Amino acid sequence: MVAMSASRTVRLDPRSPLVLDTRELGRRPGSMRRARRTVPAPADWALELVRVPEGADVELDLRLEAVMEGVLVTGTADAPVAAECGRCLEPVTERLCVDVQELFGYEQAPDDPEAPILDGDLLDLTGLLRDAVVLALPLNPVCADDCAGLCPGCGGKLADLGADHSHDTLDPRWAALGGVAPDRPTMES
Ligand SMILES: [Zn+2]
Ligand SMILES: [Zn+2]
Repeated sequence: MVAMSASRTVRLDPRSPLVLDTRELGRRPGSMRRARRTVPAPADWALELVRVPEGADVELDLRLEAVMEGVLVTGTADAPVAAECGRCLEPVTERLCVDVQELFGYEQAPDDPEAPILDGDLLDLTGLLRDAVVLALPLNPVCADDCAGLCPGCGGKLADLGADHSHDTLDPRWAALGGVAPDRPTMES
């Protein structure tokens, strides 16, 4: 029980691009500020086949609103996404725009020790943005909806090989996969 979350004691760096200073906002409920900035993408916005390239421009368009308990942040993050097609491994680029919303408390709520809080006037967008972006990354990126993928025989891209492409000897491992799975027995009472 001694080891409380260590990150709570780390002071935020006001020069970090993902740290916002709310001093100008004040703490009177209802006051509002818009924060628009371009920040470099951190290194960990990535899944196996898809990522926001580290250092890429991420456009933040955020609204900061003082409420009774803290500062409510809502808005969008717009970022480029680089992926490999899950079928043919060709590079795929697209953009991602995610909605974000988080309440940063002035004080730690006793019933929610993990809730994000302000550090003085500073708030850290790192976790909020990472969660929103990584959750929105496509799990199965494809270069085109009808991408035919790679030839299982030679690994060539089927779109480039032509419709009459075939191999005389079918690898038995692939032949086995081509079979239709038998129906599973069903439990009936
Ligand atoms: Zn493809
Ligand atoms: Zn082939």
